[in-house]
Amino acid sequence: FMEGTEQAPPDPILGVSDAFKASTSPDKLNLGVGAYRTEELQPYVLEVVKKAEAIMMEKAENKEYLPIDGLPAFKKCTAELLLGADSSIIAENKIATLQSLSGTGSLRIGAAYINAWLPGKTVYLSNPTWGNHKNIFADAGVEWKMYRYFDPETVGLDFAGMMEDIKGAPDGSIIVLHGCAHNPTGVDPTKEQWEEIASLCQEKGHLPFFDVAYQGFASGSLEEDAFAPRMFAEKGLEFLCSQSYSKNLGLYGERVGAINAVVNDAAVATRVASQMKRQARAMYSNPPVHGARIVSEVVGDEDMFNEWKAEMEMMSGRIKSVRGKLYDYLCEKMPEKDWSFVTRQIGMFSFTGLTPAQVENMTNKWEVYMTKDGRISLAGLSAAKAEYLADAIVDSIKN
Ligand code: PMP
Repeated sequence: FMEGTEQAPPDPILGVSDAFKASTSPDKLNLGVGAYRTEELQPYVLEVVKKAEAIMMEKAENKEYLPIDGLPAFKKCTAELLLGADSSIIAENKIATLQSLSGTGSLRIGAAYINAWLPGKTVYLSNPTWGNHKNIFADAGVEWKMYRYFDPETVGLDFAGMMEDIKGAPDGSIIVLHGCAHNPTGVDPTKEQWEEIASLCQEKGHLPFFDVAYQGFASGSLEEDAFAPRMFAEKGLEFLCSQSYSKNLGLYGERVGAINAVVNDAAVATRVASQMKRQARAMYSNPPVHGARIVSEVVGDEDMFNEWKAEMEMMSGRIKSVRGKLYDYLCEKMPEKDWSFVTRQIGMFSFTGLTPAQVENMTNKWEVYMTKDGRISLAGLSAAKAEYLADAIVDSIKN
């Protein structure tokens, strides 16, 4: 039966980690996957997560199945983190929330919902975007196209191109927007530009689909980083929104996240929630309980919530600091080039503009593992390694 199976290519992001692991070089540096590392380049478990887990151990709760749509306390927390605790949308039950398998699983449920209930609609993705977006929508049988986003000339946002493409999309299309800290470019619209995007979506009757994978990681503030979805909600737009706790709570392997549908009518929210539950039931039945309990413990307690915020600021602060170091070294080693994009970009990543051949040099000669699109995860860089990385980049550009 299975003899004809072809070998699948390695994943463009997670395959980089496999290659990194296989290398025996002492200099090797994994800047592929966006996962936070300490200055010692070790994975980091947040103190507040350990505290929550200690409390959970004491409570010794059972391991029964969660409801299909997840832990009620988690659902409340996650909707409030997204829209604000005082949101009228939440008070009026105009939101459907389903706990799902982190950002990826939440996007996948959203995609399945689109396929079933918004058939024939095309999803528009930013060019470039997180590579898995294409997989997820294609896997759900949803057609996707791209809108202009990044301008290599300015190493910034091609706002005019983006607006033109969103305008050019058929009315009622689905526009995927990164809530904050755009992956891979680290380039976000300004608040004024977000306002214009919201108005255009309203005008065109588009359905925005926010992907919020870095709330708290862009600015260090959970509220500030939810600016776009909160503003869209205030304007009365309906939208879908996936959330991930992989990065901001460091819960990567726990797979905790949610898919939300913000709608204009509570009865619609109930129906959408029922359909999302049906999708989840067929795919994996119900979500994991451990991570959802952690989020609920942390968000539900004021002291722990404040501790979380402080740790998030610490993590985003460390990334900003290595970003600054890398910038200084690059300016020192290659002053003829304008490196200002490095410090302009936000979040975990820097989009270096390195070509695939230059990326190959980074990996083959310098043992710097990164994605082929030229993206580096600064969350995987230490201050001590910043000069080494600058040397590798300059060498790869010059040779
Ligand atoms: N969306 C974006 C833009 C991401 O960068 C990521 C993580 N790399 C995700 C979603 C989903 O990650 P996870 O499934 O771990 O939440």
